[in-house]
Amino acid sequence: MKIDLKELISEFNNNLKLDYDLKKRNWFNIGGKTKAFYKAGDLKELIKFLKKIEDKEKVFILGAGSNTLISDNKFDGVVIKLTQNFNNISLHSEEIIVAGSAVTDKSLSEFAMENSLGGFEFLSCIPGTIGGGIKMNAGCFRREFKDILVSIQAVNKSGQVITIPVKDINFKYRDSGLSEDLIFLSASFKGFKKDKSIIENEIRLLKEKKEQTQPTKIRTSGSTFKNPIDQSDKKVWAINKRFCAIRNIIWRCINFSKTL
Ligand SMILES: Cc1cc2nc3c(=O)[nH]c(=O)nc-3n(C[C@H](O)[C@H](O)[C@H](O)COP(=O)(O)OP(=O)(O)OC[C@H]3O[C@@H](n4cnc5c(N)ncnc54)[C@H](O)[C@@H]3O)c2cc1C
Repeated sequence: MKIDLKELISEFNNNLKLDYDLKKRNWFNIGGKTKAFYKAGDLKELIKFLKKIEDKEKVFILGAGSNTLISDNKFDGVVIKLTQNFNNISLHSEEIIVAGSAVTDKSLSEFAMENSLGGFEFLSCIPGTIGGGIKMNAGCFRREFKDILVSIQAVNKSGQVITIPVKDINFKYRDSGLSEDLIFLSASFKGFKKDKSIIENEIRLLKEKKEQTQPTKIRTSGSTFKNPIDQSDKKVWAINKRFCAIRNIIWRCINFSKTL
């Protein structure tokens, strides 16, 4: 049986909203409402909330919403957004950074640069949060989250906190394979000592390169096509062109694009 979320409003103050419009909460500013929207300010509150709703409500964790298309139909569950205490970032030791799940990829990249740590440059080109980046194993320019991650701290929907070392995660192309039951709280990342000015220059070059293929001033969804798994140098339009040349029939070429 579902629970009466109205009863939880006084307990969770202004952080729980019912019948909440998600338009302002995603990259494309689209979509409809959710039955409930919960802003979790810290771990204690989040665990308390998860224990209250138990398994009785569907839960969706929203990062920056840059890889999420919100449907116009109402979501019959709770959307959880991590805020405040999940937005911390610190240097744990010389080469290890610990960042909360709500930290943006760009902020992590800048923090690493300020601390002369290399390996995080690619993150400056991905518009999302650490939580979304872990889930998607986000990456570009041949670098992915899995290349910099050391471990993840997460809480399951029963409120148990666990630490998962990266060796136990079966990362794939744009997929972490991690359970839908997990809410990522924070992660440790490892970089390597590198001159700040070199990092700065590399970030500038990567941004320029990305800008040439994906305009960043307008709301696009980034890459339209999934890259080939073997990461060949061939771009998808080159594969399409060859396919079209073989058949020389334009509508088949268009269909091929749709099936990629
Ligand atoms: C213009 C543009 C360019 C892009 N370029 C790239 C690119 O170069 N490379 C690339 O890989 N991607 C790219 N993307 C896609 C997107 O930015 C990444 O997938 C990003 O990592 C998503 O992060 P997010 O915080 O926006 O996640 P969201 O879209 O909010 O969520 C994505 C998934 O992660 C889950 N999730 C989010 N936070 C948590 C959490 N704390 N715990 C558990 N699950 C969580 C959500 O439930 C959902 O399943 C691009 C997107 C756009 C719009």
